[in-house]
Amino acid sequence: MSARRALKAVLVDLNGTLHIEDSAVPGAQEALRRLRSAPVTVRFVTNTTKESKRDLLERLTGLGFDIAEHEIFTSLTAARNLLEQQQVRPLLLVDDKALPDFTGIGTDNPNAVVVGLAPEHFHYEMMNRAFRLILEGAPLIAIHKARYFKKKDGLCLGPGPFVTGLEYATDTKATVVGKPEKTFFLEALRGTGCAPEEAVMIGDDCRDDVGGAQQAGMRGILVRTGKYLMDQSFQETVVPSGIPPCALGPALQPCCCVPAHLAHPCWGGDKAAENRVTTGLEHSTAPQLMAGSPES
Ligand SMILES: [Mg+2]
Repeated sequence: MSARRALKAVLVDLNGTLHIEDSAVPGAQEALRRLRSAPVTVRFVTNTTKESKRDLLERLTGLGFDIAEHEIFTSLTAARNLLEQQQVRPLLLVDDKALPDFTGIGTDNPNAVVVGLAPEHFHYEMMNRAFRLILEGAPLIAIHKARYFKKKDGLCLGPGPFVTGLEYATDTKATVVGKPEKTFFLEALRGTGCAPEEAVMIGDDCRDDVGGAQQAGMRGILVRTGKYLMDQSFQETVVPSGIPPCALGPALQPCCCVPAHLAHPCWGGDKAAENRVTTGLEHSTAPQLMAGSPES
């Protein structure tokens, strides 16, 4: 019988969990307020590649979320940290709006390639430049490898196919810095003083949020908003962590996040149900949104 682990830190995904593009998930602001009344450290983690942390914070604040800049950890931050560690000069294939997060990083005479979601830069000339740099030994760093993402007018190619194309052409492997990489979650926890086993990740992406967090030693809770309904393929193999009501109780029970486990067979020992259905928290007033998030 395993000992009950204290919950000291909560990592919360943003797009698809607290908001979808420029709309807050109904009930999410109040859920966050109540979460903050609990004695846990809260961090916000996202795979965004198309906007700087400052722009992201402005969007979230505008939607009524009480969030500080230092509490946000993005895949862009993870990429910057890696560039600084390796002391390399990147060719940055990222959206221009993301460039402020790389302020101070030298880009002259590049000797590394960073690929994020950059529709404006994904053309032959630029891809060929990246290709040649990698052939010359430049490391390939992927912000993340999402295959696609959802916009209001339909699905769109993510950075993954472009990263994979460069990997294929150069017979190399990219270093991925965003979710679901283990290092991303450990980096997000850095400075909180919490160990992975003392943390839980809450998100709408079964593979990147729940599966990634579990690989890093955390527990993972899947919300039923954002991507939940549009991409359930990974729910066949990734089972969100079982967290008894008493563990989450002080943090989330009083809030408008309804612990779905209270009425879900997963928590009643139904292993068959646990293997076929995932669960997590629901914003009680939120409809099950079909719209996916631009990024996870
Ligand atoms: Mg998400």
